[in-house]
Amino acid sequence: MTETVLAQKAEELRKQLNTWSREYYSLDQPSVPDDVYDQKYQELVTLEKQHPELITPDSPTQRVGGAVLKGFQKIDHEIPMLSLGDVFSKKELGEFVANLDQTVNQQIDYNCELKIDGLAISLVYRNGIFVQGSTRGNGQIGEDITQNLKTIKAVPLQLSEPVDVEVRGECYMPKKSFVELNERQEKEGKQIFANARNAAAGSLRQLDSKITAERRLSTFIYYIMEPEKFGIKTQSAALEQLKKWGFKINPDYRVAHNQQEIFAYIDEYQAKRADLTYDIDGIVIKANPFEVHKEVGNTVKVPRWAIAYKFPPDEQETVVHKIEWTVGRTGVVTPTAVMDPVQLAGTTVSRASLHNPDYIKEKDIRIGDTVKLHKAGDIIPEISMVVLDKRPAASQPYAIPTQCPICGAKLVHLDDEVALRCINPKCPALVKESLIHFASRNAMDIRGLGTKIIAQLYEKHLVNDVADLYHLTFDDLLQLDKFKEKSANNLLTAIDNSRHNSLERLLFGLGIRHVGAKAAKLIAEKFKTMDNITKATVEEIAAIKTVGMTIAESVVTYFANPNVSALLNELAKAGVNLEYLGQTAAEIAENAAASPFNGLRVVLTGTLDHLKRAEAKKWLEAHGAKVTGSVSGKTDLLIAGHDAGSKLTKAENLNVKIINEATFIQQMEEEE
Ligand code: NAD
Repeated sequence: MTETVLAQKAEELRKQLNTWSREYYSLDQPSVPDDVYDQKYQELVTLEKQHPELITPDSPTQRVGGAVLKGFQKIDHEIPMLSLGDVFSKKELGEFVANLDQTVNQQIDYNCELKIDGLAISLVYRNGIFVQGSTRGNGQIGEDITQNLKTIKAVPLQLSEPVDVEVRGECYMPKKSFVELNERQEKEGKQIFANARNAAAGSLRQLDSKITAERRLSTFIYYIMEPEKFGIKTQSAALEQLKKWGFKINPDYRVAHNQQEIFAYIDEYQAKRADLTYDIDGIVIKANPFEVHKEVGNTVKVPRWAIAYKFPPDEQETVVHKIEWTVGRTGVVTPTAVMDPVQLAGTTVSRASLHNPDYIKEKDIRIGDTVKLHKAGDIIPEISMVVLDKRPAASQPYAIPTQCPICGAKLVHLDDEVALRCINPKCPALVKESLIHFASRNAMDIRGLGTKIIAQLYEKHLVNDVADLYHLTFDDLLQLDKFKEKSANNLLTAIDNSRHNSLERLLFGLGIRHVGAKAAKLIAEKFKTMDNITKATVEEIAAIKTVGMTIAESVVTYFANPNVSALLNELAKAGVNLEYLGQTAAEIAENAAASPFNGLRVVLTGTLDHLKRAEAKKWLEAHGAKVTGSVSGKTDLLIAGHDAGSKLTKAENLNVKIINEATFIQQMEEEE
């Protein structure tokens, strides 16, 4: 290739990679999977290695990814937050280890850690108190996200010792939260996140910290900055120290004494990957002795004493046969690709959600296409790309439907939503879905009223809305398939029992947009009666902790609808309870029995910074603990805030277990 051609090639790669990086880091919406990015990146690295004159300052190889967004205060990282070099094979990893051993002239220990698929954060503590948290940004300048980080229960607000320290680690979204978030986003017609890391990043960079709080993020901390200040000499000792201070560390680290042990660790966790509750995308190997870190130092972008081994992508090719469209409870019409079944990360997969029409258009997925399939967040089957070489010659772009597949009404996009919706309130799919939701476990919990029975009730015109359920008679039910005296009586009893549910179940069961079971509970708890809720203002509802404006506005809009008032009248006439009853005795007992606090005698002392004393007491009692006022030989646990006095001394003398507020909050979080 001539020089100009090479320069053009480098320019093309830079442009492409910089566009992808912007989508990935700034918009949290990557358009290609990581391995596609990684391949192109390696291409550029190789090209620049052979022709160093082609390196430009804007080359992605010269900087840590991530731009600083507008909207957050900027923070200078005194010690830059670096990325990690990466390798994609054991051979390259072996070379890295051999080179490093050779550089320092000895066979050193390596601390093996899981590479958590989240985003790097920095936490600063003064006198043991959390004062500032930030993202990595471009490595030199990050964003101040202190308020958002404070909503994450795994981030201790106070350490067990009054140290001045900066620590760094990974903020991540557990797989379960990731799946639930994407399901919610899809139902609500919003963008879905490609992986847990983008979801975590998107959740952490919210200007409204209430949204961050709802997203159930967590952290693993893995670095202490300037560890020599604390006399710590190795990475593994640093992790133990972090744990003592009250941080959540990843327990699955291991010191390897040679290459075989490193490889064994990789094999072990590659096999365990699917069972972990969070997503990992590789393994990080760090020289364990800190003196090695000092000796070899860093490049501008990565440390020379650590490397990431990235797992190969678990991907399969298959063919798309059709695209099915289903209508959900809120009217969102969702496409699903139906494909030849393939084995993927331990399960057979033949269907993958295509989320919304934009997604189909962007990826240009067509019937007959061969596609690459992987599991996002290790669980959700997802099409990463179309294999264009295998596209049939006669293929046509997929035509997005314009009419509801169930009722034929015209489909619309509300506001600037990406989702297509059927807005016909009488669409049978919508009505049936809302009945299914009403009867579901977290809503009215009407046992025995499943999808098939609801479909029959609806088709036989016995039930058109949720209030009709309460007028069903024995004879009505006998008209249903396989219904006999006993099954009819059972269902009537279940429906009757649901009349006595506490208000939050009904509130959730009504299927108000954005109102999940948790928000319903909080709203019911605050307003006590349905009547009060219907009169509440947006501000009053949004004043509830963790209930945001979106939920509040949706509730007020819902109850302003005259059809809803009519429905509530019908429900009241049918004898359905419209008041908050609190937890039932059985529910309280069930919660308490499962808690590690159950049966403990606990004493609270000192000043608590983040919890009210009464709140802590109530929580402990709800989890089966007995909270007493003084420490004695019978006390099992002392929760000590700061400035604790004689009770603390007494507890120490009696060898009573003592925890600080931060640890208590962490344990509360684990319980929840
Ligand atoms: P990286 O994710 O490859 O590795 C560095 C990061 O790993 C650290 O900053 C830290 O956040 C994290 N990490 C997790 N566990 C760790 C541990 N135990 N110890 C230390 N660090 C740990 O590097 P990066 O610079 O953050 O991102 C580059 C990667 O991002 C690329 O390899 C690519 O896969 C992806 N990317 C994808 C696109 C796309 O369009 N799909 C675009 C840009 C970047």
